[in-house]
Amino acid sequence: MKTALLLGLLFSGSIVKANVVTESFYIKNSNPQYLQLLKTRPELTIDHVEAGGFELYGPKGLGKFLTTNNIPHFSMKIASLSAVRGYPSPEETATELKSVTDKYPNLARMFSIGKSVKGRDLWMVKLSKNVKVDDNRPEFKYIANMHGDEIVGRELMVKLIKDLLANYGKDPVITNLLDRSQIYIMPSMNPDGAASVTRGNAKNIDLNRDFPDFSTSDNKDITDGRAPETAAVMNWQKDRHFVLSANFHGGAEVVNYPWDTKADKFPNEAYIKELCLEYAGLAPYIGASTAFDNGITNGFAWYEVNGGMQDWSIFYKKDLQITIEVSNTKWPEYSTVDYYYAQNKPALLKFMERAIP
Ligand SMILES: [Zn+2]
Repeated sequence: MKTALLLGLLFSGSIVKANVVTESFYIKNSNPQYLQLLKTRPELTIDHVEAGGFELYGPKGLGKFLTTNNIPHFSMKIASLSAVRGYPSPEETATELKSVTDKYPNLARMFSIGKSVKGRDLWMVKLSKNVKVDDNRPEFKYIANMHGDEIVGRELMVKLIKDLLANYGKDPVITNLLDRSQIYIMPSMNPDGAASVTRGNAKNIDLNRDFPDFSTSDNKDITDGRAPETAAVMNWQKDRHFVLSANFHGGAEVVNYPWDTKADKFPNEAYIKELCLEYAGLAPYIGASTAFDNGITNGFAWYEVNGGMQDWSIFYKKDLQITIEVSNTKWPEYSTVDYYYAQNKPALLKFMERAIP
């Protein structure tokens, strides 16, 4: 009770949305009450709840507050600079994507859907036969790296783009995908966060808590007051009709199905669970999870997320989306990326196939 009272005094008022992530900590689950207490605070973001503890994000002063209240915590700042150094910068990634897509003008088109806080382009790659034509073939989408410090998804997307282009006309599965669907891949929704190895954008906004949410007071599908990266995705998606999509994260290894924001059963739960089980089964290290049954989980049952992109896509855009957590370590050594790609490739391709009737 004493702790709850202090929580109220320290963060009373000003910030309502849980999307400011200036300070980040890991809270070990030595006392179950910590999670219950911290959950009640709307300005705090809890992420990746597991048996050993959970991640906690919030405004400036959070660390001081945790110390004052004797809640054990440690900083989430990336441990090894050498791990950071192995990865391309956002600019290097863009240059590489440009050079790859330029080689296949009939199959690939790279374009920017907007600018980040720091003015970086938000690159999207469309892959399809006759790519310049916008036609009635089903639309599919992958978005990665909306949390800047979760980098594996971005690298998987770059490798996937290269693979699809290099093997069109050679691999029947890939040829079929590009012939029969229109694929959109955004390797990095948060290039500023990737550059600084931070979860939030350059203004410390958590993009996966920044979307309209049908179950909260922030339930209007408008871009006012949102981060430019969030607004760019929202505006761009206005003209599209995706039938299926996924977004990629790190910090866990699990495939997450809707809803994230409320406990109600998702209308198509049987189908979406089947897709998740298929993904986890084809990505052996995810399917073999000891933390999650068969490597999948319902979002809300894991932990509540308000303002996430997954639920926004489904509720407002009728775009069926799942969330794929691809690595327990958010920013592993660069040399591990090949392993993650090899493990995920069959699942990535099969999931894309599911957009084709
Ligand atoms: Zn994430």
